Amino acid sequence: MYAEIIIPLALPKNYTWSVPPLLSQAAQPGVRVEVELGKNKRYAGIVKRLHDQPPVGFETKDILNVLDNQPIVFPEQLKLWEWISSYYMCSEGEVMAAALPAHFKLSSETLLVLNEEFGDDFSSLDNEEFLVAEALLLKKELAIAEVQQVLDESHVYPVIKRLVEKKLCFIWESLKESYKPKKESFIRLNPAYEDEEKLEFLLNNWGRAAKQLELLLGWIHLSKAEGEVSKAALLKKSGASDAQLKGLIEKGILISEKKDVDRLKYLPRNILIDFELSAAQETALLQVNRLLQERPVCLLHGITSSGKTQVYIRMMEAMARTGKQTLYLLPEIALTSQIIRRLEKHFGGYIGIYHSKFNQNERIEIWNRVRSGELKIVLGARSALFLPFSDLGLVIVDEEHDSSYKQQEPAPRYHARDAAIYYASQLQAKVLLGSATPSLESYFNALNGKYGLVGLHERFGGVHLPEIELVDTQKDNAKNKSKTIVTESLKQDITATLSREKQVILFQNRRGYSPYQICQVCGWIPHCHDCDVTLTFHKKTNKLHCHYCGRLYPLVYRCQACGSDKFVQKNFGTEKIEEQLEELFPDAKIARMDIDSVRGKHSHDTLIQQFEKRRIDILVGTQMVVKGLDFENVHLVGILDADSILSFADFRVNERAFQLMEQVSGRAGRKDMRGKVVIQAFNTRHPLLKLVQQHDYLSFYQQEIDSRKRFFYPPFSRLILLTFKHKSKEIADAASRRFAEMLSPLYGQYLLGPAEPVVNRLRNQYLMELSLKLPKDGGLGARCKKDILEKIAILHSDKRFRSVVIIPDVDR
Ligand code: ADP
Ligand code: ZN
Ligand code: ZN
Repeated sequence: MYAEIIIPLALPKNYTWSVPPLLSQAAQPGVRVEVELGKNKRYAGIVKRLHDQPPVGFETKDILNVLDNQPIVFPEQLKLWEWISSYYMCSEGEVMAAALPAHFKLSSETLLVLNEEFGDDFSSLDNEEFLVAEALLLKKELAIAEVQQVLDESHVYPVIKRLVEKKLCFIWESLKESYKPKKESFIRLNPAYEDEEKLEFLLNNWGRAAKQLELLLGWIHLSKAEGEVSKAALLKKSGASDAQLKGLIEKGILISEKKDVDRLKYLPRNILIDFELSAAQETALLQVNRLLQERPVCLLHGITSSGKTQVYIRMMEAMARTGKQTLYLLPEIALTSQIIRRLEKHFGGYIGIYHSKFNQNERIEIWNRVRSGELKIVLGARSALFLPFSDLGLVIVDEEHDSSYKQQEPAPRYHARDAAIYYASQLQAKVLLGSATPSLESYFNALNGKYGLVGLHERFGGVHLPEIELVDTQKDNAKNKSKTIVTESLKQDITATLSREKQVILFQNRRGYSPYQICQVCGWIPHCHDCDVTLTFHKKTNKLHCHYCGRLYPLVYRCQACGSDKFVQKNFGTEKIEEQLEELFPDAKIARMDIDSVRGKHSHDTLIQQFEKRRIDILVGTQMVVKGLDFENVHLVGILDADSILSFADFRVNERAFQLMEQVSGRAGRKDMRGKVVIQAFNTRHPLLKLVQQHDYLSFYQQEIDSRKRFFYPPFSRLILLTFKHKSKEIADAASRRFAEMLSPLYGQYLLGPAEPVVNRLRNQYLMELSLKLPKDGGLGARCKKDILEKIAILHSDKRFRSVVIIPDVDR
C-alpha cells in the first residue's frame, strides 16, 4: 500500500511513501504520519490518499510512524486544501501550513540514539563520554537537554561529537509533539470508603489531626456541590496545607490524580435571545431564508446600523437549535472584541473564538471542540475557515467587501470569502454575505441571480444616515489664513459636538507624525535603503520609520543631496494630528488608535472600552476605527484627507474609497440623533465624493461596473498577477520580459506588462509585475494556471534566473 502525503512545505507536488503492513490499519486519510524527506529530515505530514500504484522512477521509503489514532482533518477539508492549492497556485503543503494550528505541525528535535552494535565495552571512553554512554545504555536515546543534565554543563557538543566519531551513537532529527494538554490535580475518595457506613465509621473515630478531618469534610461538601473536586479548590476551602493533604493521601483515604482540563473559559451553554427584530429586519430574515432554500449564497445589503448583526444572530440561533454549526467570519478578529461580547451574551458556551491572539494550545482546544461538534458557532478571521467542522450548516461572511479577507503574504494567497463559498458547497451548507457596501463582484453576482439579494435600507430605530459635508481644505485655509489639517470648519463642528457632550472620531489613513520630510532647497526626500519608500517620522521614537520593512533610521538634519539643513515636514500622520488636537482642544480627552498605539495584547480592547464608557472625547485613528465598531454616542466623524484615499494606483481604488468613506461615516449618529460627517478634500469635485455624500451605493455600483466592463477588469475578467523578485534589477527585468515572451504566443492578448510596480523595491529586492486579464469562460483560467507553473519551471531551469522568486497571485 502507498500513501500520498502532504508535507507543510512549498513543494511542487505531493510525494508518495509506502505503508508498512504494521501501520496499514492506522494510516488513514487525514491522520498525521512521520516521514523522512531528504537525508535525516523528518516531517509530520498528512495522509491525503491511500492507493496501490507504486510510483514509477523511484523507490519509496516507508512511513516511520502514525501519529494520530483518528484523522485530525476531514475529507472535505482535504478537498478544500486541494481546491485552494490549484485555484490560488500554491502547494497543498503551503495550505496545510496555514490551515493547521502550529502545534499540530510538530517541531523537530535533535536526539542522540544509541548504536546497539557498539556493545558494552566502554573502556575507550573518557569520564564525560562514559557518563553519556551510561545514560544512553539505559534510555536508548537522549535529547540534547538531557545530555546537558547528565554532564551538568552546557558545552556538550564536543562530547557529543567525540561519541559520534567513536560510533557509540548517532544523531537523529526526531519530531516532538509540542501541544501539551493542561493537567490539573483532582482529589477523589478511595473506593474502599465509598460505602457510607465505612465512611461514617471513619469520621466518628477520627482521633488525631483535626485539620485533616476538616479536609475530609471539605472534600465531602465539595463533591456534593460540584461533583469533581480539584486539589486547588479543596485546599482553598479547607484552608489546609499541601502537606496535610498529602498525609490523608498517604493514609489511603484520598487519592490524587491528574486530568486534562480546558484552558478556555467555560460559559454556560444556553441560548438567550432577548430582543425582537424590527419589521424591516424580520422581512429581511424571511427573504434571506427563502432565497437560501433555492440558492447556496445570499447577499444581505444592509446599510450601516441597520441591524445586520441581529439578523445574523437569529440565523445562528436557528442553526444552533437544529444542532448545526455556523462559521461567522470577520475581516479582522483582533479588532472585534465588541462583537464577541455581544455574541457571548446570546450564545454563551456554544460559541468559540478563533483568535490570532490565542496561544497555540488554546487553538488546538478549539479545533478539537469544533471537530466534536461541541461548539455550535465559531467566530474568526479567515483562518477559521480551516477548522474541522463536523456539521456545518451556515457560513456568515460579515463585511464581505473587506480586502483583508484576501491573504497577501505568504501563500496561500486565498480569498476567504470565495474559499468559504467553495467549502460550503462541498458540505451543502449555506452562505450569507453581509455588507453595507458590497464588493463589486458580489453585487454583480447578486444582480445576475447567481446569489440571492436582500436589502435592508433603514437604520434600526429610525435613525437617519448622517449628513455629509464636504470641506474644501484649500479654500477653508485661505479664508482663515491657516494651514492646519483640522480646518476651521471642522474645528467648529468639533467644538459644537463636544459642548453637547457627544464624541468625535477622526480618520486619517496615515500613521506616524509626518509621512515625509523634504529638503526645501533641492527637493530631496529621505528614503529607505532597502525599499523604494519614503520614510515616516515618528515622534514617539524620534526616528524615521520605513512602513514596509520596519527599519528605523536616525533623523536627518542635513540634506544628503545639497547639504542644506532646511527641511519641511509634509503631510499629517495620526501622531501629529493627535498633537494638534491637544493644542486646539486642551480640555478634551484625546486618544489615538493605530497599530503603534495598540501593541499590547489587550490595549486595543481597553481603548475601545474607554471610548464606550465616554472616557475619551476624540478618537483619532487609522482603518482600525472603522471596523466592526458600534458606538452610541458618536455624533461627528471627520475624514481628514480624502485625497489620499482617492489616489491609489489600483483598479479597485474607487471601490475601496467608497467603501472606506461610507463605513467611516456609518460610525456617526446612532440611537437618538442624526450624526454628521465632515470630509476634507483638496479636490472636492471628485465624482465619488458626491456619491458618498448621497449614500448612493447603487449609482456608485453602476458607474464603477461600467468602467470595469469597459476596461475588462473583474468581475468581467479574472486577474492573475505575477511578481518577479530579485536583488538585481537587471535580472528581475530580464526574467519578467523572458516570461512575457514565453506566455505571449498563448495569452498575448490578455497580458499586461511587464512593468515596475509603484513601489519597485522592497527589502532590497527589485520587483517587476506582469498581469493577465483572462476571460472567465471555459477552462481557460485553469489551463493558463497550468501553463504558468510550467513556464516558471522552465524559467528556473535557466541558470541566470534560478534565484528569481516568482509569486502568482490570483484574484488580487
Ligand atoms: P449593522 O451590523 O447593520 O451595522 P448592528 O446590528 O450593529 O447594525 O445594529 C446597530 C445597533 O442597533 C446595535 O447597537 C444593535 O444592538 C441595535 N439593534 C439593531 N437591531 C436591533 C433590534 N432588533 N433590537 C435591539 N437592538 C437592535
Ligand atoms: Zn537638498
Ligand atoms: Zn524599508
